[in-house]
Amino acid sequence: MIQFDFEYERPGTLAEAVMLLRRHGADARIMAGGTDLLPNMRVEVVRPAAVIGLSGITPEPPRCEADGSIRIDALTRLATIADSELIRKQLPLLAESARVVASNQIRQMGTLGGNLCQETRCLYLNQQHDYQFVAPCYKRGGAVCYPFPLNKPDVCWSVYMSDVAPALIALGADIETVDENGGRRIAVEDLFTGSGLNPVTLREGEIISAIIVPPAADIGWGYHKSARRGGLEFAMAVMAVTLRLAADRRTCSDARIVIGAVRERPVRAAAAERILVGAALDEAGIGAAIAAAVEELKPLPHHGFSKSYIVDNIRVYLRRVLMRAARAAGVEIPTA
Ligand SMILES: Cc1cc2nc3c(=O)[nH]c(=O)nc-3n(C[C@H](O)[C@H](O)[C@H](O)COP(=O)(O)OP(=O)(O)OC[C@H]3O[C@@H](n4cnc5c(N)ncnc54)[C@H](O)[C@@H]3O)c2cc1C
Ligand code: SF4
Repeated sequence: MIQFDFEYERPGTLAEAVMLLRRHGADARIMAGGTDLLPNMRVEVVRPAAVIGLSGITPEPPRCEADGSIRIDALTRLATIADSELIRKQLPLLAESARVVASNQIRQMGTLGGNLCQETRCLYLNQQHDYQFVAPCYKRGGAVCYPFPLNKPDVCWSVYMSDVAPALIALGADIETVDENGGRRIAVEDLFTGSGLNPVTLREGEIISAIIVPPAADIGWGYHKSARRGGLEFAMAVMAVTLRLAADRRTCSDARIVIGAVRERPVRAAAAERILVGAALDEAGIGAAIAAAVEELKPLPHHGFSKSYIVDNIRVYLRRVLMRAARAAGVEIPTA
């Protein structure tokens, strides 16, 4: 039950929503599917004075643009993305990442834009306030951090848990936004601040209108979500990889390795990517890349998982994901 009062608006267009956001100012929040916002309002992680519900706006179906990129309305439900023939065929990595989110009920309501803008999580933050907290933590405007008591007030190590964002970053996707100045286009990678206090870089009054994914026919991909159980569970770690081959069909010309649910934002394993690019894609190179990745990633312990347990998990599953991606790109690597 939400125990505070708020105004509710239901615009019929995004332009109207932008106008309402301007009218209500900093205390207003957009609600798409509401599967993240409403639970967070219930435990008072957020206390908006006005909620601008977007359920009156019908999303356009995903479509292929003239340049081969795929344009997806930000209000598209995750279930639609997981089931869309176009996305399954052209962007199977994205379809797979949407398919593993939460449960069918949440995927039927939750949208792509809402998934990207979801709140960070920590064992203390997303709980009923009165029995979990003696006093509010930094993120709630208080003067304490429970899991990391030595952190300064400007440091919150809550973890960003989207299953879909790492896939979109691995695919090199952009977002388009609308606001009172018109809007902009930025890489999904640049949507994140890296701070648990305020995880996304959207400005006041800015709404994500679409996600644009470049053509991906020539990539090999791999994806894995490690979680305590198979369904209705946030991740312990997410691994999304895309690999491209040069004309000789052996040298790696492009590599993106993105790890999610281990920090305040999805992180790229940049040193590991550098090892792969320009070299022959083989077992030795993949082994070296994994060694570099586990060295450079600094996962936060979260939800009962220790840092060393998360690192060990990534060591095992990133190998499988990279091997799968290399084979899908067309490299013949014998199965062990
Ligand atoms: C039980 C449970 C399990 C879950 N498990 C997972 C999981 O396994 N993996 C995972 O990734 N997520 C999970 N989630 C988180 C989340 O609910 C979903 O990922 C969902 O996609 C959020 O989308 P929504 O449309 O419901 O967002 P909303 O709740 O409507 O919004 C979430 C946030 O995004 C903002 N927002 C929404 N749309 C836009 C937009 N177009 N532009 C700008 N800001 C916007 C809202 O203001 C709000 O701050 C889970 C949630 C629950 C309750
Ligand atoms: S990590 Fe962040 S959300 Fe969690 S208790 Fe500390 S300040 Fe609060």
